[in-house]
Amino acid sequence: MNHSRRDFIHKLTASAVLLPLATPMISQATPYRPHQQGKTLRVALMGLGGYAQRVAEAMQSCQRAEITGLISGTPQKLEEWSGKYNVPKKNCYNYETFDAIKDNPEIDAVYIITPNALHHSQALRVAAAGKHVICEKPMALNAPEAREMVEACRNAGVHLLVGYRMRFEPNTLEIVRMRNDGELGKIMFFQGLSGFRIGDPNQWRLNKDLAGGGALMDIGVYSINGARYMVGEDPVWVTAQETKTEPGRFSEGVDETITFQFGFPSGATASCLSTYNMNYLDRFFLNGEKGFAELSPATGYGPIRGRTNHGPLEISHTTHQTVQMDEMAAIILDGKQPVLRVDGEDAVKDMVIVDAIYEACRTGRKQDLVYG
Ligand code: NAD
Repeated sequence: MNHSRRDFIHKLTASAVLLPLATPMISQATPYRPHQQGKTLRVALMGLGGYAQRVAEAMQSCQRAEITGLISGTPQKLEEWSGKYNVPKKNCYNYETFDAIKDNPEIDAVYIITPNALHHSQALRVAAAGKHVICEKPMALNAPEAREMVEACRNAGVHLLVGYRMRFEPNTLEIVRMRNDGELGKIMFFQGLSGFRIGDPNQWRLNKDLAGGGALMDIGVYSINGARYMVGEDPVWVTAQETKTEPGRFSEGVDETITFQFGFPSGATASCLSTYNMNYLDRFFLNGEKGFAELSPATGYGPIRGRTNHGPLEISHTTHQTVQMDEMAAIILDGKQPVLRVDGEDAVKDMVIVDAIYEACRTGRKQDLVYG
């Protein structure tokens, strides 16, 4: 193992010992302390729903990032969260007023954690306010929207990062290191299985206007993004097939199950499954001429379990969102180059692939992938 990589993984592993294994339900409120710019990334959370709650709890253990602002359409949530996380009322906004963050020196970045269809317009407004954008996956509804977000952030001179937490996860990074060091030999094949059985029929994830699609937009993107970082290449073609066993539950434009296949420049191939109608599907498998690597579970909140032809990877759990936010702070504040990119320009590729998968399902034809 290369020393800097080993040190990095050991640091992550050691810091995990200090972190709680389970996310506490109610955090101890941390004292509000505005920092000098450059020391800590001061983040406003936008969209105070289920995932934002997880991020907020995880950020209580961050060394480099802290919550200094809140954006929500529900006054009661702003009241509750501002008390719980010690965010002053003057740093709380709603969806009509948040452009005013441009005049708030206590907010460096906004983390957009709203339904998918809102990401594009909200990112454009955050960029126009001169603040860095951290956006949840999928970053947009399609590649044209994603490219506009990249351009808006570039023009505004702010970072655009996408919340791909697995790209900081130590089991994942160890497999990437093994592959880069040639320990798996020439990579031949990747399999990605991403799915769960979705509940509540009234949730936004099953509403095409808010979700932009179905399982592919929500959970299938993990296999798309994972295929790219596990194989270490971007696919050049895709084929895809859609099946819908329950049209009553999954309306027009909301995909239930899609299988898709990739071809990579090296000749490696991938076979993936995205579904909202099967449980126990969270597994990545990478096969090379000299060995294999498996992550199972591969993308859940953890613990992630890694295994290779040499046996299990003994790497302790880290709270993904804590590591992600500290690493994103280092990217934004120190110009750190992460092992796996999480910038908007790289994430646009996932949206190009999503568009091509839907087109392949519609036409039944193989799609060439052009990222430019
Ligand atoms: P959620 O439904 O729990 O929360 C969404 C929040 O957005 C709610 O607080 C809701 O009030 C708010 N909202 C604002 N405008 C809205 C509107 N017009 N319609 C509906 N809600 C609106 O959803 P979530 O699970 O927190 O997902 C939010 C985003 O985070 C999604 O993009 C999702 O893909 C992403 N996510 C990422 C991960 C991850 O592991 N990276 C996990 C879960 C969700």
